[in-house]
Amino acid sequence: MQPIAEFDVAIVGFGPAGAVAACWLGQAGVRTLVLEKSHTIWEIPRAIALDHEILRVFQNLGVVEEILPFTAPFGASEHFGAAGQLIRRIGVVDPPYPMGYLPNMVFTQPPVEAILRNRAASHTSVTLKLGSKVTALKHQHDGVLISTETDRGQSESFAAKYVIACDGASSNTRQMLGLVLDDLGFDEPWLVVDVIVNEDAIQNLPATCAQFCDPSRPCTYIIGPGNHRRWEIMLLPGEDPRQMEMEANVWPLLSRWLNPTDGKLWRASSYRFHALVASKWRDGRVFLAGDAAHQQPPFVGQGMCQGVRDVTNLCWKLVSVLRGTTRDAILHSYEQERSDHVRTLTSRIKNIGAAICERDPEAARLRDEALIRQGGGQALEVTRQEIVPPLQTGLIAPQHGPAAGVLFPQPTISTPRGPVRLDDLAADGWHLFIDGRSSSVALDSDELGLSVFILGGNGNPETEGVAAAWFDRHACAAAIVRPDHYVYCGLRTVNEIQKACEELRLRLRA
Ligand SMILES: Cc1cc2nc3c(=O)[nH]c(=O)nc-3n(C[C@H](O)[C@H](O)[C@H](O)COP(=O)(O)OP(=O)(O)OC[C@H]3O[C@@H](n4cnc5c(N)ncnc54)[C@H](O)[C@@H]3O)c2cc1C
Repeated sequence: MQPIAEFDVAIVGFGPAGAVAACWLGQAGVRTLVLEKSHTIWEIPRAIALDHEILRVFQNLGVVEEILPFTAPFGASEHFGAAGQLIRRIGVVDPPYPMGYLPNMVFTQPPVEAILRNRAASHTSVTLKLGSKVTALKHQHDGVLISTETDRGQSESFAAKYVIACDGASSNTRQMLGLVLDDLGFDEPWLVVDVIVNEDAIQNLPATCAQFCDPSRPCTYIIGPGNHRRWEIMLLPGEDPRQMEMEANVWPLLSRWLNPTDGKLWRASSYRFHALVASKWRDGRVFLAGDAAHQQPPFVGQGMCQGVRDVTNLCWKLVSVLRGTTRDAILHSYEQERSDHVRTLTSRIKNIGAAICERDPEAARLRDEALIRQGGGQALEVTRQEIVPPLQTGLIAPQHGPAAGVLFPQPTISTPRGPVRLDDLAADGWHLFIDGRSSSVALDSDELGLSVFILGGNGNPETEGVAAAWFDRHACAAAIVRPDHYVYCGLRTVNEIQKACEELRLRLRA
Protein backbone atom coordinates (compact mmCIF):
# COMPACT_ATOMS: atom_id res chain seq x y z
CA MET A 1 0.00 0.00 0.00
CA GLN A 2 1.26 3.52 -0.88
CA PRO A 3 2.18 5.71 2.11
CA ILE A 4 -0.38 8.45 2.73
CA ALA A 5 0.83 11.96 1.82
CA GLU A 6 0.77 14.21 4.88
CA PHE A 7 0.04 17.92 5.03
CA ASP A 8 -0.34 20.55 7.70
CA VAL A 9 -3.61 21.87 6.29
CA ALA A 10 -6.01 20.48 3.68
CA ILE A 11 -8.47 22.86 2.05
CA VAL A 12 -11.64 21.39 0.58
CA GLY A 13 -12.88 23.59 -2.30
CA PHE A 14 -11.00 26.10 -4.42
CA GLY A 15 -13.64 28.84 -4.77
CA PRO A 16 -12.76 32.34 -3.54
CA ALA A 17 -12.61 31.30 0.13
CA GLY A 18 -10.44 28.23 -0.55
CA ALA A 19 -8.15 30.14 -2.90
CA VAL A 20 -7.58 32.95 -0.41
CA ALA A 21 -6.89 30.38 2.33
CA ALA A 22 -4.36 28.63 0.06
CA CYS A 23 -2.66 31.98 -0.68
CA TRP A 24 -2.35 32.81 3.04
CA LEU A 25 -1.01 29.38 3.97
CA GLY A 26 1.28 29.16 0.94
CA GLN A 27 2.71 32.58 1.69
CA ALA A 28 3.53 31.37 5.21
CA GLY A 29 5.22 28.23 3.85
CA VAL A 30 2.63 25.88 5.39
CA ARG A 31 2.39 22.46 3.69
CA THR A 32 -1.07 22.81 2.19
CA LEU A 33 -3.22 20.50 0.09
CA VAL A 34 -6.10 21.91 -1.95
CA LEU A 35 -8.77 19.43 -3.02
CA GLU A 36 -11.25 20.67 -5.62
CA LYS A 37 -13.73 18.48 -7.43
CA SER A 38 -13.87 20.58 -10.58
CA HIS A 39 -11.04 21.38 -13.03
CA THR A 40 -12.22 24.81 -14.02
CA ILE A 41 -13.39 28.07 -12.53
CA TRP A 42 -17.09 28.77 -12.69
CA GLU A 43 -17.20 31.24 -15.62
CA ILE A 44 -20.42 32.89 -14.46
CA PRO A 45 -20.02 35.70 -11.92
CA ARG A 46 -21.97 35.42 -8.70
CA ALA A 47 -20.34 38.03 -6.47
CA ILE A 48 -20.18 41.47 -8.07
CA ALA A 49 -19.18 43.74 -5.17
CA LEU A 50 -16.35 43.71 -2.67
CA ASP A 51 -15.03 46.14 -0.12
CA HIS A 52 -11.76 47.76 0.93
CA GLU A 53 -11.04 45.19 3.63
CA ILE A 54 -10.94 42.53 0.92
CA LEU A 55 -8.75 44.66 -1.37
CA ARG A 56 -6.37 45.04 1.56
CA VAL A 57 -6.28 41.25 1.89
CA PHE A 58 -5.50 41.01 -1.84
CA GLN A 59 -2.71 43.54 -1.30
CA ASN A 60 -1.32 41.47 1.56
CA LEU A 61 -1.40 38.42 -0.70
CA GLY A 62 0.51 40.27 -3.43
CA VAL A 63 -2.27 40.24 -6.05
CA VAL A 64 -4.07 43.58 -5.73
CA GLU A 65 -2.35 45.23 -8.70
CA GLU A 66 -3.35 42.31 -10.90
CA ILE A 67 -6.93 42.41 -9.60
CA LEU A 68 -7.60 46.15 -9.78
CA PRO A 69 -8.03 46.16 -13.61
CA PHE A 70 -11.03 43.84 -13.09
CA THR A 71 -12.71 46.24 -10.66
CA ALA A 72 -14.53 49.58 -10.92
CA PRO A 73 -15.88 51.98 -8.28
CA PHE A 74 -19.15 50.89 -6.68
CA GLY A 75 -21.04 54.14 -6.22
CA ALA A 76 -24.00 54.86 -3.98
CA SER A 77 -27.19 52.77 -4.15
CA GLU A 78 -30.49 54.63 -4.13
CA HIS A 79 -33.56 52.87 -2.76
CA PHE A 80 -36.89 53.94 -4.22
CA GLY A 81 -40.18 53.39 -2.41
CA ALA A 82 -43.59 52.17 -3.51
CA ALA A 83 -44.41 55.53 -5.14
CA GLY A 84 -40.98 55.79 -6.77
CA GLN A 85 -39.71 58.28 -4.17
CA LEU A 86 -36.15 58.11 -2.74
CA ILE A 87 -36.40 56.43 0.67
CA ARG A 88 -32.82 55.40 1.47
CA ARG A 89 -29.38 56.09 0.12
CA ILE A 90 -26.50 53.74 0.83
CA GLY A 91 -23.59 56.04 0.21
CA VAL A 92 -19.83 55.81 0.12
CA VAL A 93 -17.40 57.44 2.54
CA ASP A 94 -15.40 60.44 1.34
CA PRO A 95 -11.62 60.35 0.88
CA PRO A 96 -9.08 59.99 2.39
CA TYR A 97 -9.94 56.30 2.37
CA PRO A 98 -9.28 54.45 5.64
CA MET A 99 -7.95 51.21 4.15
CA GLY A 100 -6.01 52.76 1.28
CA TYR A 101 -8.61 51.83 -1.34
CA LEU A 102 -12.01 53.01 -2.49
CA PRO A 103 -14.32 51.51 0.15
CA ASN A 104 -16.54 49.66 -2.33
CA MET A 105 -15.79 48.23 -5.73
CA VAL A 106 -17.59 46.13 -8.29
CA PHE A 107 -15.57 43.39 -9.92
CA THR A 108 -15.65 40.51 -12.37
CA GLN A 109 -15.49 37.30 -10.38
CA PRO A 110 -14.02 34.72 -12.83
CA PRO A 111 -10.74 36.56 -13.66
CA VAL A 112 -10.30 37.54 -10.01
CA GLU A 113 -10.71 33.90 -8.97
CA ALA A 114 -8.18 32.90 -11.66
CA ILE A 115 -5.63 35.37 -10.25
CA LEU A 116 -6.13 34.03 -6.73
CA ARG A 117 -5.79 30.43 -7.92
CA ASN A 118 -2.59 31.22 -9.83
CA ARG A 119 -1.16 32.94 -6.80
CA ALA A 120 -1.96 29.97 -4.59
CA ALA A 121 -0.39 27.61 -7.14
CA SER A 122 2.79 29.72 -7.26
CA HIS A 123 3.64 28.83 -3.64
CA THR A 124 5.88 25.79 -3.48
CA SER A 125 4.31 24.56 -0.24
CA VAL A 126 0.86 24.32 -1.89
CA THR A 127 -0.20 21.11 -3.65
CA LEU A 128 -3.27 21.33 -5.87
CA LYS A 129 -5.46 18.35 -6.65
CA LEU A 130 -8.09 19.46 -9.14
CA GLY A 131 -10.74 16.94 -10.19
CA SER A 132 -10.55 15.45 -6.71
CA LYS A 133 -13.75 15.19 -4.69
CA VAL A 134 -13.62 14.75 -0.95
CA THR A 135 -15.84 11.83 -0.02
CA ALA A 136 -15.04 11.22 3.66
CA LEU A 137 -13.20 12.71 6.64
CA LYS A 138 -12.10 10.77 9.68
CA HIS A 139 -10.57 12.25 12.81
CA GLN A 140 -7.40 10.54 13.97
CA HIS A 141 -5.28 11.09 17.05
CA ASP A 142 -3.36 14.10 15.71
CA GLY A 143 -5.05 14.95 12.45
CA VAL A 144 -7.68 14.08 9.89
CA LEU A 145 -7.71 11.31 7.31
CA ILE A 146 -9.28 12.55 4.06
CA SER A 147 -10.66 10.23 1.40
CA THR A 148 -11.12 11.48 -2.13
CA GLU A 149 -12.27 10.22 -5.47
CA THR A 150 -10.81 11.60 -8.68
CA ASP A 151 -12.95 12.27 -11.71
CA ARG A 152 -11.42 9.12 -13.20
CA GLY A 153 -12.90 7.12 -10.37
CA GLN A 154 -9.63 6.61 -8.49
CA SER A 155 -9.72 6.62 -4.68
CA GLU A 156 -6.98 8.40 -2.74
CA SER A 157 -6.27 9.22 0.91
CA PHE A 158 -4.41 12.11 2.51
CA ALA A 159 -3.62 13.11 6.06
CA ALA A 160 -3.64 16.66 7.39
CA LYS A 161 -3.31 18.19 10.83
CA TYR A 162 -6.19 20.56 10.08
CA VAL A 163 -8.89 20.83 7.42
CA ILE A 164 -10.63 23.99 6.19
CA ALA A 165 -13.91 23.15 4.48
CA CYS A 166 -14.58 25.82 1.86
CA ASP A 167 -16.82 23.60 -0.23
CA GLY A 168 -19.63 26.06 -0.76
CA ALA A 169 -23.28 26.41 0.16
CA SER A 170 -24.18 22.75 -0.21
CA SER A 171 -21.00 21.69 1.62
CA ASN A 172 -20.66 17.96 1.71
CA THR A 173 -18.18 18.33 4.56
CA ARG A 174 -20.69 20.18 6.70
CA GLN A 175 -23.22 17.43 6.08
CA MET A 176 -20.73 14.62 6.72
CA LEU A 177 -19.86 16.19 10.07
CA GLY A 178 -23.52 16.64 10.93
CA LEU A 179 -23.11 20.42 11.36
CA VAL A 180 -26.42 22.20 10.85
CA LEU A 181 -27.32 25.66 9.62
CA ASP A 182 -29.41 28.02 11.75
CA ASP A 183 -32.07 29.73 9.68
CA LEU A 184 -32.21 33.46 10.47
CA GLY A 185 -35.55 33.65 8.70
CA PHE A 186 -35.15 34.75 5.10
CA ASP A 187 -36.13 32.73 2.05
CA GLU A 188 -37.08 34.58 -1.10
CA PRO A 189 -36.93 33.57 -4.79
CA TRP A 190 -34.99 35.95 -7.07
CA LEU A 191 -33.77 35.90 -10.65
CA VAL A 192 -30.24 37.27 -11.26
CA VAL A 193 -29.63 38.62 -14.76
CA ASP A 194 -26.26 39.76 -16.12
CA VAL A 195 -26.18 41.69 -19.39
CA ILE A 196 -23.26 43.06 -21.39
CA VAL A 197 -24.94 46.20 -22.66
CA ASN A 198 -24.13 47.72 -26.05
CA GLU A 199 -22.31 51.04 -26.05
CA ASP A 200 -25.20 53.01 -27.52
CA ALA A 201 -27.77 51.61 -25.06
CA ILE A 202 -25.70 52.07 -21.92
CA GLN A 203 -26.17 55.83 -21.76
CA ASN A 204 -29.94 55.38 -21.42
CA LEU A 205 -29.56 53.29 -18.26
CA PRO A 206 -29.66 54.81 -14.76
CA ALA A 207 -26.28 56.29 -13.75
CA THR A 208 -26.71 55.16 -10.11
CA CYS A 209 -27.20 51.70 -8.65
CA ALA A 210 -30.73 51.27 -7.36
CA GLN A 211 -33.14 49.15 -5.35
CA PHE A 212 -36.64 49.53 -6.69
CA CYS A 213 -38.68 48.61 -3.60
CA ASP A 214 -41.87 48.41 -5.61
CA PRO A 215 -44.20 45.91 -3.91
CA SER A 216 -45.49 44.73 -7.28
CA ARG A 217 -41.96 43.54 -8.28
CA PRO A 218 -38.93 44.43 -6.12
CA CYS A 219 -35.79 44.73 -8.21
CA THR A 220 -32.09 45.64 -7.89
CA TYR A 221 -29.96 47.36 -10.54
CA ILE A 222 -26.15 47.27 -10.25
CA ILE A 223 -23.59 48.98 -12.43
CA GLY A 224 -20.77 46.47 -12.90
CA PRO A 225 -17.33 46.98 -14.44
CA GLY A 226 -17.25 48.10 -18.09
CA ASN A 227 -20.56 47.39 -19.81
CA HIS A 228 -21.66 44.73 -17.32
CA ARG A 229 -25.02 45.53 -15.75
CA ARG A 230 -26.87 43.30 -13.29
CA TRP A 231 -30.55 43.13 -12.47
CA GLU A 232 -31.79 41.07 -9.54
CA ILE A 233 -35.52 40.60 -9.88
CA MET A 234 -37.84 39.13 -7.28
CA LEU A 235 -39.93 36.25 -8.55
CA LEU A 236 -43.64 36.34 -7.81
CA PRO A 237 -45.82 33.55 -6.46
CA GLY A 238 -46.63 31.12 -9.25
CA GLU A 239 -43.56 31.98 -11.36
CA ASP A 240 -41.47 28.92 -12.08
CA PRO A 241 -37.79 29.70 -11.31
CA ARG A 242 -36.48 27.50 -14.16
CA GLN A 243 -38.93 28.92 -16.69
CA MET A 244 -38.10 32.48 -15.66
CA GLU A 245 -34.41 31.90 -16.50
CA MET A 246 -35.28 31.40 -20.17
CA GLU A 247 -34.24 34.24 -22.43
CA ALA A 248 -37.75 34.69 -23.79
CA ASN A 249 -38.98 35.36 -20.25
CA VAL A 250 -36.03 37.50 -19.18
CA TRP A 251 -36.21 40.32 -21.75
CA PRO A 252 -39.80 41.28 -20.88
CA LEU A 253 -38.66 41.73 -17.26
CA LEU A 254 -35.96 44.16 -18.47
CA SER A 255 -38.22 46.02 -20.91
CA ARG A 256 -38.32 49.07 -18.64
CA TRP A 257 -34.60 49.52 -19.35
CA LEU A 258 -33.54 47.48 -22.39
CA ASN A 259 -34.77 45.57 -25.38
CA PRO A 260 -33.12 42.41 -26.75
CA THR A 261 -31.03 44.30 -29.33
CA ASP A 262 -29.44 46.46 -26.62
CA GLY A 263 -27.05 43.86 -25.28
CA LYS A 264 -26.01 40.27 -24.82
CA LEU A 265 -27.56 38.21 -22.06
CA TRP A 266 -24.57 36.81 -20.12
CA ARG A 267 -26.67 34.71 -17.80
CA ALA A 268 -29.98 34.47 -16.00
CA SER A 269 -30.13 32.24 -12.91
CA SER A 270 -32.75 31.78 -10.25
CA TYR A 271 -31.71 31.62 -6.61
CA ARG A 272 -33.39 31.40 -3.28
CA PHE A 273 -31.84 34.13 -1.17
CA HIS A 274 -31.27 32.75 2.32
CA ALA A 275 -29.91 33.91 5.66
CA LEU A 276 -28.22 30.82 7.12
CA VAL A 277 -25.36 30.48 9.60
CA ALA A 278 -23.78 27.24 10.83
CA SER A 279 -24.64 26.56 14.46
CA LYS A 280 -21.11 25.18 14.94
CA TRP A 281 -18.17 26.16 12.74
CA ARG A 282 -15.78 23.53 13.93
CA ASP A 283 -15.65 19.83 14.53
CA GLY A 284 -12.34 18.90 16.13
CA ARG A 285 -9.67 19.75 13.57
CA VAL A 286 -12.09 20.60 10.77
CA PHE A 287 -13.23 24.22 10.31
CA LEU A 288 -16.03 25.50 8.09
CA ALA A 289 -15.44 28.71 6.12
CA GLY A 290 -17.11 30.71 3.36
CA ASP A 291 -20.51 29.69 2.01
CA ALA A 292 -20.10 26.33 3.75
CA ALA A 293 -20.55 28.24 7.03
CA HIS A 294 -23.03 30.91 6.01
CA GLN A 295 -25.19 32.30 3.26
CA GLN A 296 -26.84 35.70 3.07
CA PRO A 297 -28.99 37.66 0.63
CA PRO A 298 -26.70 39.63 -1.73
CA PHE A 299 -28.27 43.05 -1.06
CA VAL A 300 -25.12 44.57 0.43
CA GLY A 301 -22.63 42.49 -1.60
CA GLN A 302 -21.00 40.77 1.39
CA GLY A 303 -21.24 36.97 0.87
CA MET A 304 -17.81 36.40 -0.62
CA CYS A 305 -16.34 39.17 1.55
CA GLN A 306 -17.49 37.19 4.59
CA GLY A 307 -15.70 34.08 3.32
CA VAL A 308 -12.49 36.03 2.73
CA ARG A 309 -12.77 37.39 6.28
CA ASP A 310 -13.27 33.85 7.62
CA VAL A 311 -10.14 32.37 6.10
CA THR A 312 -8.07 35.48 6.82
CA ASN A 313 -9.10 35.19 10.47
CA LEU A 314 -8.41 31.46 10.62
CA CYS A 315 -5.18 31.22 8.64
CA TRP A 316 -2.97 33.50 10.75
CA LYS A 317 -4.11 31.58 13.82
CA LEU A 318 -3.38 28.21 12.19
CA VAL A 319 0.04 29.43 11.06
CA SER A 320 1.02 30.56 14.55
CA VAL A 321 -0.23 27.29 16.10
CA LEU A 322 1.62 25.21 13.49
CA ARG A 323 4.79 27.22 14.13
CA GLY A 324 4.40 26.51 17.82
CA THR A 325 4.40 30.18 18.80
CA THR A 326 0.82 30.20 20.05
CA ARG A 327 -1.25 27.73 22.04
CA ASP A 328 -3.91 25.95 20.04
CA ALA A 329 -6.68 27.34 22.28
CA ILE A 330 -6.45 30.44 20.08
CA LEU A 331 -8.30 28.43 17.42
CA HIS A 332 -11.48 28.62 19.52
CA SER A 333 -11.59 32.33 18.83
CA TYR A 334 -12.17 31.63 15.11
CA GLU A 335 -15.75 30.47 15.57
CA GLN A 336 -16.43 32.95 18.36
CA GLU A 337 -15.33 35.91 16.28
CA ARG A 338 -16.57 34.94 12.87
CA SER A 339 -19.90 33.41 13.86
CA ASP A 340 -20.80 36.44 15.92
CA HIS A 341 -19.72 38.85 13.17
CA VAL A 342 -21.54 36.95 10.42
CA ARG A 343 -24.73 36.70 12.48
CA THR A 344 -24.79 40.43 13.19
CA LEU A 345 -24.04 41.38 9.59
CA THR A 346 -26.44 38.82 8.13
CA SER A 347 -29.22 40.04 10.43
CA ARG A 348 -28.65 43.60 9.22
CA ILE A 349 -28.64 42.46 5.58
CA LYS A 350 -31.75 40.40 6.24
CA ASN A 351 -33.55 43.45 7.63
CA ILE A 352 -32.57 45.51 4.59
CA GLY A 353 -33.67 42.59 2.40
CA ALA A 354 -37.00 42.22 4.21
CA ALA A 355 -37.75 45.90 3.58
CA ILE A 356 -36.81 45.53 -0.11
CA CYS A 357 -38.88 42.35 -0.53
CA GLU A 358 -42.09 43.82 0.98
CA ARG A 359 -44.97 42.75 -1.30
CA ASP A 360 -47.88 44.19 0.64
CA PRO A 361 -48.67 47.72 -0.69
CA GLU A 362 -49.88 49.06 2.66
CA ALA A 363 -46.87 47.64 4.53
CA ALA A 364 -44.60 49.09 1.81
CA ARG A 365 -46.19 52.53 2.28
CA LEU A 366 -45.60 52.34 6.04
CA ARG A 367 -42.01 51.17 5.44
CA ASP A 368 -41.37 54.21 3.22
CA GLU A 369 -42.83 56.58 5.81
CA ALA A 370 -40.75 54.99 8.58
CA LEU A 371 -37.51 55.31 6.60
CA ILE A 372 -38.20 58.95 5.76
CA ARG A 373 -39.00 59.57 9.45
CA GLN A 374 -35.71 57.91 10.48
CA GLY A 375 -33.92 60.18 7.99
CA GLY A 376 -35.43 63.25 9.69
CA GLY A 377 -37.89 63.99 6.87
CA GLN A 378 -35.71 62.91 3.97
CA ALA A 379 -34.24 59.69 2.58
CA LEU A 380 -32.24 57.91 5.26
CA GLU A 381 -28.52 57.97 4.41
CA VAL A 382 -26.05 55.33 5.61
CA THR A 383 -22.75 54.09 4.24
CA ARG A 384 -22.06 50.44 3.45
CA GLN A 385 -19.21 50.57 5.98
CA GLU A 386 -21.62 51.36 8.81
CA ILE A 387 -23.49 48.15 8.03
CA VAL A 388 -20.39 45.97 8.58
CA PRO A 389 -19.89 45.52 12.35
CA PRO A 390 -16.60 45.32 14.29
CA LEU A 391 -15.54 42.14 16.09
CA GLN A 392 -17.39 41.97 19.41
CA THR A 393 -15.89 38.87 21.00
CA GLY A 394 -12.87 36.61 20.89
CA LEU A 395 -9.24 37.63 20.91
CA ILE A 396 -9.74 41.30 21.72
CA ALA A 397 -9.29 43.25 24.94
CA PRO A 398 -11.83 46.06 25.21
CA GLN A 399 -11.03 46.49 28.93
CA HIS A 400 -7.84 48.32 28.00
CA GLY A 401 -9.51 51.07 26.05
CA PRO A 402 -11.47 51.97 22.97
CA ALA A 403 -11.41 50.54 19.44
CA ALA A 404 -10.94 46.84 20.28
CA GLY A 405 -12.38 44.80 17.40
CA VAL A 406 -12.33 47.51 14.73
CA LEU A 407 -10.02 47.39 11.74
CA PHE A 408 -6.88 49.44 12.09
CA PRO A 409 -6.61 51.76 9.08
CA GLN A 410 -3.97 51.63 6.39
CA PRO A 411 -2.47 55.11 6.02
CA THR A 412 -0.14 55.98 3.18
CA ILE A 413 3.38 56.69 4.43
CA SER A 414 5.69 59.18 2.82
CA THR A 415 9.07 57.54 2.16
CA PRO A 416 12.19 58.57 0.19
CA ARG A 417 10.98 56.22 -2.57
CA GLY A 418 7.52 57.86 -2.64
CA PRO A 419 4.17 57.13 -0.95
CA VAL A 420 3.84 53.54 0.30
CA ARG A 421 0.83 51.83 1.92
CA LEU A 422 1.40 50.92 5.57
CA ASP A 423 1.13 47.14 5.12
CA ASP A 424 3.86 47.22 2.49
CA LEU A 425 6.19 48.79 5.06
CA ALA A 426 5.19 47.12 8.32
CA ALA A 427 6.18 43.47 8.61
CA ASP A 428 3.53 40.73 8.97
CA GLY A 429 2.41 39.80 12.46
CA TRP A 430 1.40 41.62 15.63
CA HIS A 431 2.04 45.35 15.82
CA LEU A 432 2.02 48.15 18.27
CA PHE A 433 1.12 51.31 16.38
CA ILE A 434 1.84 54.50 18.29
CA ASP A 435 0.51 57.94 17.56
CA GLY A 436 3.80 59.81 17.09
CA ARG A 437 2.12 63.14 17.84
CA SER A 438 1.39 62.14 21.43
CA SER A 439 4.48 60.15 22.34
CA SER A 440 8.09 59.80 21.41
CA VAL A 441 8.90 57.07 23.95
CA ALA A 442 11.48 54.53 22.85
CA LEU A 443 10.09 51.01 23.15
CA ASP A 444 11.95 47.77 22.71
CA SER A 445 10.14 45.58 20.15
CA ASP A 446 11.86 42.40 21.35
CA GLU A 447 10.86 43.00 24.93
CA LEU A 448 7.25 43.70 23.96
CA GLY A 449 7.10 40.74 21.55
CA LEU A 450 5.55 42.73 18.71
CA SER A 451 6.75 45.15 16.04
CA VAL A 452 6.58 48.78 17.08
CA PHE A 453 5.65 51.32 14.43
CA ILE A 454 5.30 55.03 15.11
CA LEU A 455 2.93 56.95 12.87
CA GLY A 456 3.28 60.73 12.53
CA GLY A 457 5.24 63.08 14.81
CA ASN A 458 8.90 62.12 14.69
CA GLY A 459 7.95 58.70 13.37
CA ASN A 460 6.80 57.69 9.91
CA PRO A 461 5.07 60.64 8.23
CA GLU A 462 1.69 59.83 6.72
CA THR A 463 0.45 61.69 3.67
CA GLU A 464 -3.28 62.17 4.38
CA GLY A 465 -3.72 62.09 8.15
CA VAL A 466 -5.69 58.82 8.10
CA ALA A 467 -3.98 57.36 11.19
CA ALA A 468 -4.04 60.69 13.04
CA ALA A 469 -7.79 60.99 12.42
CA TRP A 470 -8.25 57.40 13.60
CA PHE A 471 -6.30 57.95 16.85
CA ASP A 472 -8.29 61.15 17.46
CA ARG A 473 -11.65 59.51 16.76
CA HIS A 474 -10.96 56.68 19.17
CA ALA A 475 -9.12 58.85 21.71
CA CYS A 476 -6.13 56.47 21.62
CA ALA A 477 -2.42 57.08 21.91
CA ALA A 478 -1.55 53.60 20.64
CA ALA A 479 -3.12 50.36 19.46
CA ILE A 480 -2.08 46.73 19.61
CA VAL A 481 -3.09 45.28 16.25
CA ARG A 482 -3.43 41.63 15.23
CA PRO A 483 -1.92 40.12 12.08
CA ASP A 484 -5.32 40.47 10.34
CA HIS A 485 -5.35 44.24 11.14
CA TYR A 486 -8.10 43.99 13.76
CA VAL A 487 -7.34 46.01 16.88
CA TYR A 488 -6.67 43.85 19.95
CA CYS A 489 -6.92 46.93 22.13
CA GLY A 490 -6.61 50.67 21.91
CA LEU A 491 -4.56 52.33 24.63
CA ARG A 492 -5.25 55.76 26.00
CA THR A 493 -1.69 56.27 27.19
CA VAL A 494 1.60 54.62 26.33
CA ASN A 495 2.05 53.74 30.04
CA GLU A 496 -0.52 50.97 29.61
CA ILE A 497 1.45 49.29 26.85
CA GLN A 498 3.61 47.04 29.02
CA LYS A 499 0.63 45.67 30.92
CA ALA A 500 -1.45 45.03 27.80
CA CYS A 501 1.48 43.28 26.07
CA GLU A 502 2.11 41.07 29.08
CA GLU A 503 -1.54 40.07 29.20
CA LEU A 504 -1.53 39.32 25.48
CA ARG A 505 1.59 37.17 25.86
CA LEU A 506 -0.15 35.12 28.54
CA ARG A 507 -3.22 34.66 26.35
CA LEU A 508 -1.16 33.46 23.39
CA ARG A 509 1.65 31.59 25.09
CA ALA A 510 2.29 28.20 23.49
C1 LIG B 1 -26.57 36.11 -7.10
C2 LIG B 1 -25.45 36.24 -6.15
C3 LIG B 1 -24.86 37.47 -5.96
C4 LIG B 1 -23.80 37.61 -5.07
N1 LIG B 1 -23.22 38.83 -4.91
C5 LIG B 1 -22.19 38.96 -4.06
C6 LIG B 1 -21.49 40.19 -3.96
O1 LIG B 1 -21.80 41.16 -4.64
N2 LIG B 1 -20.45 40.27 -3.09
C7 LIG B 1 -20.04 39.21 -2.35
O2 LIG B 1 -19.09 39.36 -1.57
N3 LIG B 1 -20.66 38.02 -2.45
C8 LIG B 1 -21.71 37.87 -3.29
N4 LIG B 1 -22.30 36.66 -3.44
C9 LIG B 1 -21.81 35.50 -2.64
C10 LIG B 1 -20.58 34.86 -3.26
O3 LIG B 1 -20.72 34.59 -4.61
C11 LIG B 1 -20.26 33.59 -2.50
O4 LIG B 1 -20.30 33.88 -1.13
C12 LIG B 1 -18.88 33.05 -2.83
O5 LIG B 1 -18.69 32.85 -4.20
C13 LIG B 1 -18.67 31.75 -2.08
O6 LIG B 1 -17.33 31.36 -2.13
P1 LIG B 1 -16.87 29.99 -1.47
O7 LIG B 1 -15.43 29.85 -1.86
O8 LIG B 1 -17.26 29.95 -0.05
O9 LIG B 1 -17.75 28.86 -2.17
P2 LIG B 1 -17.87 28.42 -3.76
O10 LIG B 1 -17.51 29.57 -4.60
O11 LIG B 1 -19.20 27.85 -3.86
O12 LIG B 1 -16.73 27.34 -3.88
C14 LIG B 1 -16.86 26.05 -3.36
C15 LIG B 1 -15.92 25.13 -4.12
O13 LIG B 1 -15.89 23.86 -3.48
C16 LIG B 1 -15.89 22.84 -4.47
N5 LIG B 1 -16.41 21.62 -3.85
C17 LIG B 1 -17.67 21.38 -3.42
N6 LIG B 1 -17.76 20.16 -2.86
C18 LIG B 1 -16.53 19.60 -2.94
C19 LIG B 1 -15.99 18.35 -2.53
N7 LIG B 1 -16.73 17.42 -1.90
N8 LIG B 1 -14.68 18.10 -2.78
C20 LIG B 1 -13.91 19.02 -3.40
N9 LIG B 1 -14.38 20.22 -3.82
C21 LIG B 1 -15.66 20.52 -3.57
C22 LIG B 1 -16.77 23.41 -5.58
O14 LIG B 1 -16.50 22.80 -6.82
C23 LIG B 1 -16.37 24.89 -5.56
O15 LIG B 1 -15.30 25.17 -6.43
C24 LIG B 1 -23.35 36.49 -4.34
C25 LIG B 1 -23.94 35.24 -4.53
C26 LIG B 1 -24.97 35.12 -5.44
C27 LIG B 1 -25.58 33.76 -5.65
